Amino acid sequence: MRAIQKSRHLSRHILKAHAFPHVRYSSVATSTIKPLTSILIANRGEIALRVGRTAAEYGIRTTTLYTDPDARSQHALSSPYAVNLGEPSAYLDGDRIIQIAKEQGCQGIHPGYGFLSENPTFARKCTEAGLTFIGPPWQAIESMGSKSESKNIMTAAGVPCIPGYHGSNQDPEYLKNEAAKISYPVLLKAVKGGGGKGMRIVNSPEEFFDQLASAKSEARNSFGDEVMLVEKYITTPRHIEVQVFADKHGNCVALGERDCSIQRRHQKILEESPAPHLNEEIRQDIWEKARAAALAVKYEGAGTVEFIFDNDTGEFFFMEMNTRLQVEHPVTEMVTGEDLVRWQLIVAEGGRLPLTQDEVEQRIKERGAAIEARIYAENPDMNFIPDSGILLHLRSPKPSSTVRIDAGFVTGDEVSSHYDPMIAKLIVQGPTRKAAIQKLHSALEEYEVAGPTTNIEFLKRICVSPDFIAGNVETGYIQKHHSELFTPEPPPPEVYAQAALGLILQEISSFQGGGSDPFATPPVTAAGFGTGYQLREYNLVEVAADGKTPPIPTTAQILQTAPSKFNITVAGQTYQNVASSFTPSTSTLTTFYPHTRLSTTIIPIPSSPPLTSFAAAATTFTLFQGGRQYRLALALPKWAEKALGVKDETNSVLAPMPCKVLRVEVREGEVVKRDQPLVVIESMKMETVIRSPVDGVVGRVVHGVGDLCKAGTALVEFVSEEKEEGNDEKS
Ligand code: ADP
Ligand code: ADP
Ligand code: MG
Repeated sequence: MRAIQKSRHLSRHILKAHAFPHVRYSSVATSTIKPLTSILIANRGEIALRVGRTAAEYGIRTTTLYTDPDARSQHALSSPYAVNLGEPSAYLDGDRIIQIAKEQGCQGIHPGYGFLSENPTFARKCTEAGLTFIGPPWQAIESMGSKSESKNIMTAAGVPCIPGYHGSNQDPEYLKNEAAKISYPVLLKAVKGGGGKGMRIVNSPEEFFDQLASAKSEARNSFGDEVMLVEKYITTPRHIEVQVFADKHGNCVALGERDCSIQRRHQKILEESPAPHLNEEIRQDIWEKARAAALAVKYEGAGTVEFIFDNDTGEFFFMEMNTRLQVEHPVTEMVTGEDLVRWQLIVAEGGRLPLTQDEVEQRIKERGAAIEARIYAENPDMNFIPDSGILLHLRSPKPSSTVRIDAGFVTGDEVSSHYDPMIAKLIVQGPTRKAAIQKLHSALEEYEVAGPTTNIEFLKRICVSPDFIAGNVETGYIQKHHSELFTPEPPPPEVYAQAALGLILQEISSFQGGGSDPFATPPVTAAGFGTGYQLREYNLVEVAADGKTPPIPTTAQILQTAPSKFNITVAGQTYQNVASSFTPSTSTLTTFYPHTRLSTTIIPIPSSPPLTSFAAAATTFTLFQGGRQYRLALALPKWAEKALGVKDETNSVLAPMPCKVLRVEVREGEVVKRDQPLVVIESMKMETVIRSPVDGVVGRVVHGVGDLCKAGTALVEFVSEEKEEGNDEKS
């Protein structure tokens, strides 16, 4: 508490010193306004579509860009003016993009986020080419682009910064010495970093050099620069950021704050506004500091000032400024009722901010709470490793004035491993924080995505996590609530019953030669062939999300009793005479049980690498039932595995995604423990450590440093224990 008082006292003092004027519109003649009628969107995916939407609403023609892997993507198709850049990395080719903008007769370029949005050279070249860069002046981007230089500017402007070393001496010994001065734990950060990359926590001096090497290598790969800063690691922090907006007339407003503490890999997955349990005085102070930060660099347009808030002391510190529109800007749009892309265009045209600070505050008071969930193709159970692939099925919640979906994909599109794996953003608004969370949860229950693994189930578990509902957020939330968040309930018997019904209906329809085939491959059953009216048995297994847990089969016995009527027994439960039908157009199986009706979406999945490391499957499929997703596979009986010559890969560790091998941490013949690092891979510019699923002996290192591997390729093979089939069946 003393610390809180102290920081407040300090900030008062600073405020006075800087004599922050209450922002008012200045009186510049409207003739200075240069309306934009045609812009180029230098980005892809949902942000490209998002910018295009506002542009279209105001009659601004847009030119969009795409690359070869993006040729059929939604943003490429969204405008009649679309230019192919070719290779996947060409979104970074600023000179070419400027050239295209001129050829297309565009007056301005909107960079979205990522890619060129925070590149001062690009912004400068746009200006020099006579194009309006829809973003801040390049000098402001440059000042804020370096996490070290920006801290010097902020300190001078009276904005508190985290203690640390952000100088130019990069000698490892020197940096280690600085770390000791700061006292452990410390955080190493790439000065040019972003997206949570190039960052490592160092808990003790012994780890220092290893973590430094690892942070540098990731930074080099991601940003082509490995300059590091060292700062105090705050152990129970919250990430609180302020959306600021400034125009060319000296006006600057804070559009409220966002709490983005629910993170994994130092990257946000849930963002909300207002920040829960934030003392009103601190809130006002943090807004003022954010405006001071923007004014210190003569900012224009949309920007975000990120602060780290120390939960232990109540102090907050400047972390960095993102000189662009952010992924989570819709949260602010929901709580202010404003279109921030529209604001960006107004500022770029030379207009004035549409609202004063007082008007913004009034809006925020009236409009309650908003929260955003980022839907990613990634696997939370495998340390949030990104996934990619075709979206075999995608059904979004129904949008409304309080439920918004910003997506870049539709069914059939591919989440490419060349780019960020974010599929969509789901943003909801409610009169209170609790109401917004509840709405988010129910909207997530409506979200159906089959194909790549997603974080949707995980997000739902956060929505019902008591500490989250209570507003007790911090950046370590996911780690601290690990057991609660990573223990999904097993599927109820009805899920197996529905899967079995889907399978038998398919068998009947394909035997009769009619109807459409809901599943890609014909299932192999233990109970022979023929039309209905014969007892069948399906051995179903849940596909383990962690790729490690061996599946335990559940047997579903099913007997047809009349046309579309069945008796089913699963896990000791019997359902008599249920009526079931499958609608191919919606992939929905509807069944009338004695007391309930169940509708299940069933999507067949052509191949599923995680399962193959334990058992061979005839068919795998994703089911959506009762607001939850399940992944089941029809296990092949042992005799069929033999007959089909299925290779037993039980003793291999497979690449979970397309990747490059960066380091091999074990040698052939080495005895390893469960969870010991085996191989370090890189995928989507991110390093991932592949750990041993078992205690064992390394038989063969299949791939060496630099090898490119497809998903499902064996990386390391273990010495098998040579168990005979007969031994297995003894018990
Ligand atoms: P935000 O800060 O808006 O919440 P993220 O940190 O998730 O957004 O970044 C948004 C996108 O921009 C991601 O694709 C991320 O990888 C990319 N990105 C962010 N900062 C940088 C940077 N400095 N260099 C390259 N890409 C970046
Ligand atoms: P990026 O440019 O990748 O967004 P940031 O500097 O904004 O990098 O930091 C990203 C995240 O890392 C923050 O949201 C926070 O969770 C964590 N973080 C950053 N600095 C610290 C710190 N000094 N102590 C604890 N956590 C930090
Ligand atoms: Mg950041």
